[in-house]
Amino acid sequence: MYLNVAEIESAIDSLHDAYPGPTEITTPPHRTHEGRTTRLLRVGTRQVNEVPAILLLGGIHAREWMPPDALISLAADLLEAHDSATGLGYGSSTFTAAQVTQVVENFNLFFFPCVNPDGRAFSQTTSAMWRKNRRPAPAGSNGPSCVGVDLNRNFDFLWNHTAKFATDADVHTSDNPCDPHVYRGPAAASEPETRNVVWALDSNPQIRWMVDVHSAGPAILHNWGSDQNQSTTPTDNFRNPNLDDVRGRPDDGIGEFIPEADLKTAVELSEHMNDAAGAVRGVDYGVEAAYGLYPTSGTSDDYAYSRHFTNPAATKVFSYTIECGDRFQPAFSEAEQVIREVSAALLALALNAPNVTNGA
Ligand SMILES: [Zn+2]
Repeated sequence: MYLNVAEIESAIDSLHDAYPGPTEITTPPHRTHEGRTTRLLRVGTRQVNEVPAILLLGGIHAREWMPPDALISLAADLLEAHDSATGLGYGSSTFTAAQVTQVVENFNLFFFPCVNPDGRAFSQTTSAMWRKNRRPAPAGSNGPSCVGVDLNRNFDFLWNHTAKFATDADVHTSDNPCDPHVYRGPAAASEPETRNVVWALDSNPQIRWMVDVHSAGPAILHNWGSDQNQSTTPTDNFRNPNLDDVRGRPDDGIGEFIPEADLKTAVELSEHMNDAAGAVRGVDYGVEAAYGLYPTSGTSDDYAYSRHFTNPAATKVFSYTIECGDRFQPAFSEAEQVIREVSAALLALALNAPNVTNGA
């Protein structure tokens, strides 16, 4: 059975109670529109300022039921294996006891399994295909689809798509509050759930990687999602207002700048994740830039990686989206297999990330 919101929170408590040494619970400052608090579980024996860290997000989209369960499952597996000094195996994806120790004792993993609990509760009790959060509908708007914001269009990265993209760019977001899927919200980072993710990044400058786990695909996506990648013209970037009329068009010779070394790192770590996920039962997730699906604005992964371009004091955060499985809510026996794929991919990232040259 998929975990409900209360069970996710009690699982965080249970893991901390069972393994108090290598865990810490933190509570982001913003309550959801329905008054819920959300929490992160940090796994790692070292202090937060001592070692690099990874931020793992789940549950941003309400109807994608597997990612929160996957993050809780991986945290539990890692803590149990570390405690008993054993390895972990997911199909042919195997990790030795030494590798488990390496991850837990030389790294911190911030698990943020359920970013959007209001949406998950609504999806699991009332409307299974609900995607957004539960921001009340604006005054004068009627109908159930006028509730909510797509949190993965709400981050402060080229958020204002009507101003920042070519009119024919087919960017998948909307300024219509009644759009049932991709309403971007009334302002960038307007939503408490979005601001909680920003808070996690702001308060932990040791975070150098982020994975936002979604479904369905399968696919492993790296930056950028706003336009095609290019590594030749640094001034063609998201901060350049001269591109506002052309951004997002395919094959027009203008793309989003990513330093060549960063692109190499982004792809290399994606391939480590893909190899590990594929070894579980032979499913090829595939690696591509997020733009390969369609142009996006306001997404978590582009926002996280953009921060160090906007603010030179910010840590560079290599960011990924995993689209796991091939359905939003498969039978749980299938979900368990997908959870193993996600677990293997994330462990492979945690193992390899510190050893890969961290870009330019
Ligand atoms: Zn999603």
